[in-house]
Amino acid sequence: MGALLLDPAQRFTCQQCGRCCRRWEIALTPGEVKAYRQAKVERYFREREGSPEGAESDPFDPLPGGYATIRKREDGACGFLSLENRCRIHEELGADRKPLTCRLFPIRFHPAEGAPVLTASFSCPTIVKNEGTLLTAQSREIATLRKAWGREYPERERPVELLAGRRLAPEALATLRQVLREMLDRPGPEGRPDLRANVLRMARYVEDVSRHRVMRLPPPRFAEYLELTGRYAAKSEQPLAARRPSALGRLLFRGFLFAVVAAREQLEDGRGSGLRLDLRWRLLRLLAHAHGVGPGLPSLDRAAVRRARLDLQRPEVHGLAWHYLRATVQTLGTGRRPVLDELAVAVAFLNATEMLAAQHAARKGKTLVDAESFSEGLMEAVDLTHADTSAGRLLATLSGGVESLYLFANGQTQ
Ligand code: SF4
Repeated sequence: MGALLLDPAQRFTCQQCGRCCRRWEIALTPGEVKAYRQAKVERYFREREGSPEGAESDPFDPLPGGYATIRKREDGACGFLSLENRCRIHEELGADRKPLTCRLFPIRFHPAEGAPVLTASFSCPTIVKNEGTLLTAQSREIATLRKAWGREYPERERPVELLAGRRLAPEALATLRQVLREMLDRPGPEGRPDLRANVLRMARYVEDVSRHRVMRLPPPRFAEYLELTGRYAAKSEQPLAARRPSALGRLLFRGFLFAVVAAREQLEDGRGSGLRLDLRWRLLRLLAHAHGVGPGLPSLDRAAVRRARLDLQRPEVHGLAWHYLRATVQTLGTGRRPVLDELAVAVAFLNATEMLAAQHAARKGKTLVDAESFSEGLMEAVDLTHADTSAGRLLATLSGGVESLYLFANGQTQ
């Protein structure tokens, strides 16, 4: 197996908060289903949070090909989650018998061309806070997981593109990551990176290299252009002209915000019951409010940003946002979507975070967004990446491309 690319500054040690066990579907391989049936794990399943152990019906929802998902409790948590936030399968059968999906979370492997990429999900509070052991110090455990993942869910190596149809060679991708990182880390007047100014610099660069004329350059000249202009832009002391996000970019962001909030509504309310009428009605009102029509709802209240201010230069918040952006840049090129779309979607999540964090802070009576509210907002936004909704599949379009970077640079999520 080739070397794995990951964010060298990312830490992780599971804090057993149980957040992941309360949210998404947990997929089981055919081998796991068979082994769990043989071990009679239904004995450890709970139908409701406080009910005694013992499943009333099959704890697995079958999927084609022998796969399955673990049936959820009434409150949406995994039926094998104990009252102490522990996995009952882990407790009874041992850590290595826990579902592979759970052993992997929050990391994910992407068999991209060149070096395969490991990403860490910012839906996990430990990843957001960057706590625990460095991932680079867990190479043995990661190698074991990667092997198991490759065996159970084999995926073909994916080509990396800059934009749809424009292949990006591994060396050019490495250069791109490096120059974006240099731009991101440029110190601002207060010594620490000015994230909005630095994302503006990234936006200008990204816009330049994605011009039609540049994209048509033959690969060696394109790589040279990417490097020369990138290095110059990262170091240049020339002030950058401001540029407001376009009206279309702002409109698309509202759709993006709706997708984020709607995914949570569906997660909390849908729970396998399909789009019921009351949920549909709430989604409609959400859509209207996201577009500036109609009053706020508990899950989305755009007026919150006026009640709780977000100051990105506040050290505790700055550290979280910088960590998120840095991790994004370091692991660009998963091959799941073109690199510039990956970047745009990641920044769009940060834009949604601004709104959701302000909402979280306002609800708690705070006038400033603190680290807790920012982390909550970020996790809530990024949760959409785990939801299997049609809006989730449209993320790249809804992000508005480079417009999401201009939106962030201008702090204009309203
Ligand atoms: S959300 Fe993260 S820290 Fe919490 S239980 Fe899951 S993996 Fe562990």
